[in-house]
Amino acid sequence: MNKIMPSNPLSVFALLFTSLFLLVGCLRGQESLFAFVTYQGPGTFAPASAPVTNYKFDVANEVFNNLVRARGDRQKAIPKFVMDNGRQYMAWMNPTAVEIGMEERIYDVCAGFGPDSLAALAAVLAHEMTHYYENHDWSRSFISQNEELSTSESIASLPEGIKLETEADYKGGMLAIAAGYDAYDLMPRFLKLAYAAYGLPERITGYPALADRIEISANTANQLKGVHAIYHTAGLLTMVGAYEPALQYYEHALNAFQSYEVYNNAGVCALLSLLDYMQPGEFPYALPLELDATSRLDKLATRLPSKQEAAKAMLLQKARNYLVNAMNLTEREAVAALNMSIYYLLNEEPYDAEYWSTKAQRTAIRYRQPQTSGNAQIVQGILAAQDNRPDDAERLFNAALPKSRAIAELNLDLLLGNRNTAITASKAVSEPERIQGVKLGDIFSEELDLEVNVEVDKSVFCGKKEYEDHTLFIHFADDGERRAAFQVTKPNYRGLTATGAGIGATRTEIMDQYGLANKVIPTRTETCLDYAKHGVIFCFDTDDRLVRWIVYSTKLTN
Ligand SMILES: [Zn+2]
Repeated sequence: MNKIMPSNPLSVFALLFTSLFLLVGCLRGQESLFAFVTYQGPGTFAPASAPVTNYKFDVANEVFNNLVRARGDRQKAIPKFVMDNGRQYMAWMNPTAVEIGMEERIYDVCAGFGPDSLAALAAVLAHEMTHYYENHDWSRSFISQNEELSTSESIASLPEGIKLETEADYKGGMLAIAAGYDAYDLMPRFLKLAYAAYGLPERITGYPALADRIEISANTANQLKGVHAIYHTAGLLTMVGAYEPALQYYEHALNAFQSYEVYNNAGVCALLSLLDYMQPGEFPYALPLELDATSRLDKLATRLPSKQEAAKAMLLQKARNYLVNAMNLTEREAVAALNMSIYYLLNEEPYDAEYWSTKAQRTAIRYRQPQTSGNAQIVQGILAAQDNRPDDAERLFNAALPKSRAIAELNLDLLLGNRNTAITASKAVSEPERIQGVKLGDIFSEELDLEVNVEVDKSVFCGKKEYEDHTLFIHFADDGERRAAFQVTKPNYRGLTATGAGIGATRTEIMDQYGLANKVIPTRTETCLDYAKHGVIFCFDTDDRLVRWIVYSTKLTN
């Protein structure tokens, strides 16, 4: 039977009724909009007369796409991003048209924030996106479609509306952080400037008063700062190979906020932690998620206590849960499927690993993610090698070479048995690495006036302090038995490294001065070189220019 055709007259009626209701919804579209402001009184109210498609649209659209990526796109249709020249809403979300929009005027206000302008754009767009993904349209359109229940005047007094706006500010701030924008400190200043630019009064129907909105955003900012510190410290701990505390940090962040990015990072962290437990020779291939495959492959035999088998099983379970959640949130990120295939590979389920690596490769080709497509071929090559098909393995590793050179090369050498144990030849640098003259190893003996100090877990604390040109992140566990400190330079840092290099130096210059790195850490936007002996990580952009560096000091094993 045709499923589309209703089977009885009553359903036909129901169908008609629904369409009618939707039509009414469309005609009343303006009321179902969720705007950053909705104001039509005196001021500079002007409806849109033309779409904006210039560079401003391109800049905002890229921020928008980054937010969609971080949130994950799977649960609902991806809204369309539009920009126009109106002076009415600042920004809006239209659930009927599945559209998020921004006015050129508010773009200009964001642009006024100079180096923070992208973060300001992210704050506005993430606010609207939260209304969309959290289905805020339901309660509000319900209210606006029941006029006998409430006039537009009394909507203002409804705590529901204010609650939703607060939630949009809070979850929007989290989303911006997950996408890499730190917007929380901007909000109070941004709101003042935005209201002024639109000539708006302090009070607008349906929104908290400006003063309250500023106060709420300041409170939200404080909460966001804690989560932000935890999320960033998790990334830093992962970089230096402290996977277990990093996983604790990600788990805490997930309590506050769930996104594709956080789930995926947590899953990767669990798998990396699991690899730490592996016996030498137990898995003699290099995985595309490993930050430092060589030191694992070269490590000497140690005996695993039996209770560590339980730890391995638990980590596998965790990795699976996180990666399933990440997969449920996105279908455009090939990395999520790739990591899933690596999970099955490590769990000795080759058929599932094959399925997910094929899926990863298809997704990577479809959404143009060449490195991930190469990494999927590497997983397939490892599967072929394990299945005693060395010719297939060699062909697949070779095919992956141009897309993911380092890992493909390492696996080819392992397969063909012509691997020389890599000698990491970092050069001696006479001066210790310091940022603003701080001796990082001594930092815990000082009284630290931390700006953020959050309990991540029982007896585990995360701290953060902002300086003008760098940020300090602290991990402090078991009364300092285990701890780590990281100083991360900001783009305006004018100081120099121990060898006299500064921001803008090339990767070749750094390698001439420091020698070969202990490990190369590819992140989504940067390539980082870790010099463990010097306690410094250098991060380069796609042009191989130094954009920031991280000085660190850790005490992580007893
Ligand atoms: Zn809103």
